Amino acid sequence: MSNLERDPAESAGGGQAPLEAVTELLEPRKVWLGKTTQVRRLLPHKERRMVGAWCFVDHYGPDDISASPGMRVPPHPHTGLQTVSWLLDGEVQHLDSIGSAVRIGPGELHIMTAGAGIAHSEESPSDHPPMLHGVQLWVALPDAHRHTAPRAFDSYRELPVADLGDGVSATVMVGEVAGVRSPAPTYSPLVGAEVAVPAGTAAQVPLAAEHEHAVLVTEGSATVEDTRLQHGEMLYLGIGRTAASVASTGGARLLLLGGEPFEEQIVMWWNFIGRSHDEIVEARGDWMAESDRFGVVEAFDGDRLPAPEMPNSRLRPRGRTR
Ligand code: MN
Repeated sequence: MSNLERDPAESAGGGQAPLEAVTELLEPRKVWLGKTTQVRRLLPHKERRMVGAWCFVDHYGPDDISASPGMRVPPHPHTGLQTVSWLLDGEVQHLDSIGSAVRIGPGELHIMTAGAGIAHSEESPSDHPPMLHGVQLWVALPDAHRHTAPRAFDSYRELPVADLGDGVSATVMVGEVAGVRSPAPTYSPLVGAEVAVPAGTAAQVPLAAEHEHAVLVTEGSATVEDTRLQHGEMLYLGIGRTAASVASTGGARLLLLGGEPFEEQIVMWWNFIGRSHDEIVEARGDWMAESDRFGVVEAFDGDRLPAPEMPNSRLRPRGRTR
């Protein structure tokens, strides 16, 4: 997934925020991803830039794409982050500049580590299924790891499931829930899980008190810590909780995201994460000059995505809240 906005607002993470249990409803904003896909962006949000190292959350669908090409995101670069792809329905073809070509499906975890620089494309396959529904997430890499060489697409098609009682379960994408740990490595203390809440059930989702958390409703509607949430809404839960209550009358799927508050100040612009204005200018220049830094998505048939113009003002590193 790419940030395809032609005039992407400067956004950054890190900084000062009250470290306590809160409930903040984060409404999505609609963003066009190319000409064919509209997504609902939850992070960065004007009220909150990050949850742990999670710094970008797009939720899309369920969309009936049976009569359309579906997703069309041409090759674009990334730096300083990992992308985490998760589908609830449909399929997406991932291609990247280190030669990965992976058709991804529902319930599979796919992580791309950009490190110093990578390019990738994401498209609905030509023979795609009728529906498309998923989330695209970014994880900011801590300073010690953000210049690492790009890693081959890491795929986990089987993930461990934690039984939370009353029929509620959590598929653990990264980190640990209720003592059940994902095999996916992370570069900072992080959790990500899909919580299935069947109709008429309720449970407590155990949380690490030293982490901040948020819950996104990806399917149905649910009540989380006494807040009613509709499809597409996210509730920020703050820090210091040992559990969050979840319940649903009609059935729901929830995406739990959390992690240690990310205290580094970052600069996030277009598809790049850096630490300074000058780093972003350099990354943009390298992409536009077709430098070896990002490589070429050889298998993609079409043009790469040009970077937007830099804003007139200098980008400033900012905190994790606003
Ligand atoms: Mn991308």
